[in-house]
Amino acid sequence: MKIINTPAEWLEIEKSINRKEKHQSIGLVPTMGALHKGHLSLVERAIKENDISVVSIFLNPVQFNNQNDLKTYPKTWEEDCALLEKTGVDYLFAPTYDIMYPDDYHYKLSEDSFSKTLCGASRPGHFDGVLTVVMKLFQIFLPEKAYFGEKDFQQYKLLDGMAKAFFLRTEVIPCPIVREENGLAFSSRNKRLSPAGLAKAPCLHKALASGKSVDEIKAQLEADGFMIDYVTEVGNRLYAAASIEDVRLIDNVER
Ligand code: AMP
Repeated sequence: MKIINTPAEWLEIEKSINRKEKHQSIGLVPTMGALHKGHLSLVERAIKENDISVVSIFLNPVQFNNQNDLKTYPKTWEEDCALLEKTGVDYLFAPTYDIMYPDDYHYKLSEDSFSKTLCGASRPGHFDGVLTVVMKLFQIFLPEKAYFGEKDFQQYKLLDGMAKAFFLRTEVIPCPIVREENGLAFSSRNKRLSPAGLAKAPCLHKALASGKSVDEIKAQLEADGFMIDYVTEVGNRLYAAASIEDVRLIDNVER
């Protein structure tokens, strides 16, 4: 695995491996680090389905509306590198803020409908930050395919919409949620939970998968000690965000 830090480095590599002449496909997996089995499932797919695989680790500050959330976001660089080495991924892109935002975020992308609902309603500017950083990554690597987890289903839908709206040549591929045996979706933020919080956290998925009404699910989550942000049905999907020990967890199920 080769670690690169700037778009310029990638352009040099792209030339030296004759990527364009050889028509080699690129699979990209954008992440914010603190890697777990959910991330690794995306990486394995990118490796399997492409000639060249790229993972990015960039804790994107502009998508955090809450500075404390950014400050306390788990950072596990050494472990992340060791995990990625084992997967056989070709490149790890790890830029700084100044490299990703030479414009200091004066240019940004936004969507003005779905992004204002669910997570966007309580996290103003969050999806502007997500769309903008992913557009930058797509422009740098021009990947044929990019892999995103259905754990962040709203994010996946918005990125897929962005790719189509701007005629991007990148296919946005949804990947199934990877869960612990107890149903808890793997998440970097789980690392911030105490053992007691970790014991409570699976109740989120259990409630969503119970088949009960939205009101009953909310009552159950409150009884379980969650601070609810939302539980909302959109189409055939039930979405929820709720905090435990001040750690915001999200999940969704089809129904
Ligand atoms: P993050 O580092 O949280 O930005 O996540 C990077 C990518 O991994 C996103 O596309 C997430 O949806 C995906 N992801 C995170 N957790 C999971 C999970 N438990 N199962 C599947 N994909 C996941």
